[in-house]
Amino acid sequence: MKAAAIMPKKIGSLHFVEVPVPRISPEEVLVRIIRVGLDGTDKEIGMGYYGTAPKGCDYLIVGHESFGRVEKMGDGTSGCGLKVGDYVVATVRRPDKCINCAAGESDMCLTGNYTERGIKGAHGYMTEYYKEVPANLVKIPSSIAEPAVMLEPMSIAEKAVTQPFEIQSRMVWAPKTAVVLGTGTVGLFAAMLLRLRGLDVVSVDRTESNPIKEDIFKSMGIRHINSSKVAIGDIPKSIGKNVDIVVELTGSPAVVYDAMNLSGPNGLVSLVSVTGGSYVANVDMAKLNYNLVLGNRVVVGVVNSNIKYFRKGVADMVSIEKAHPGLLKGMITRRVPFEEFDNYGILEDREQIKVVIEFEKILKKG
Ligand SMILES: [Zn+2]
Repeated sequence: MKAAAIMPKKIGSLHFVEVPVPRISPEEVLVRIIRVGLDGTDKEIGMGYYGTAPKGCDYLIVGHESFGRVEKMGDGTSGCGLKVGDYVVATVRRPDKCINCAAGESDMCLTGNYTERGIKGAHGYMTEYYKEVPANLVKIPSSIAEPAVMLEPMSIAEKAVTQPFEIQSRMVWAPKTAVVLGTGTVGLFAAMLLRLRGLDVVSVDRTESNPIKEDIFKSMGIRHINSSKVAIGDIPKSIGKNVDIVVELTGSPAVVYDAMNLSGPNGLVSLVSVTGGSYVANVDMAKLNYNLVLGNRVVVGVVNSNIKYFRKGVADMVSIEKAHPGLLKGMITRRVPFEEFDNYGILEDREQIKVVIEFEKILKKG
């Protein structure tokens, strides 16, 4: 079978490899890929910034945002809740032996010795078939078969939105207003999830929004602010309210400082994105310290997700789909046939929300 792979740390090395269809053990499941999503991490893997091959292999099969169908079940998998023909999404990170990983929270890994399928030390899903144990698979209802390829980014948004509520269980807390900085896939999902929780949500980016984002904002009652017109620090004044939750998804160091000062008393800022490199700035640490201390404010870093957030993501995708049919699917703005996937150029187009690789032709061939 065909798979798409890169040579780690080598720019522009995306190529097809011919590999055998995986043979499953009695404990495993064989999954046939239907489509795979691409994101910023894929772009950086294509640029040679990230990506580690599995031990003993000189290439890495890419792709971590998967959607497929169970093709074959191992004899020892009965009672796992899956059957042949079920739609599934696989999680990405695989644990090491630290206390957090052992507790099922590989997203909280203490050591950094985890692997990630399609990213770090384990092959990904940009291939006709993959094998996996049922514990790493999430069953997908057919009502969200189209948007479920975005479940991995949805799981990140779930963690970014859920953790503030867990952290703030330290006090009586009734957040009313949230600001989400960034309108990529995770940013749009975070805004939607905060709306589902009943908050007044302001979604911020540097542009006038495009028709697809406009549709999401209108359907779900999300306000949009163009930060090239309203400075981030002026948002509370502009909306006439304190901000209780800030979710920062731009990763831009210049935005991060403003984000940390944006929340009101008892507010929380969730930092979810990074840009590499170094950025040195003159900032008013006294002001930041004053705001954090006197306002009991929290700034928290949030990375990755675990299967619990994938499952929450399924439930919330089903609710959104029910209330707004087709809204999620509309976020898939470009579909590239697998046979034509030989570079990451499409990810340079900032107008795209979610680009997916379709395995349709191969599936038709049987
Ligand atoms: Zn660990």
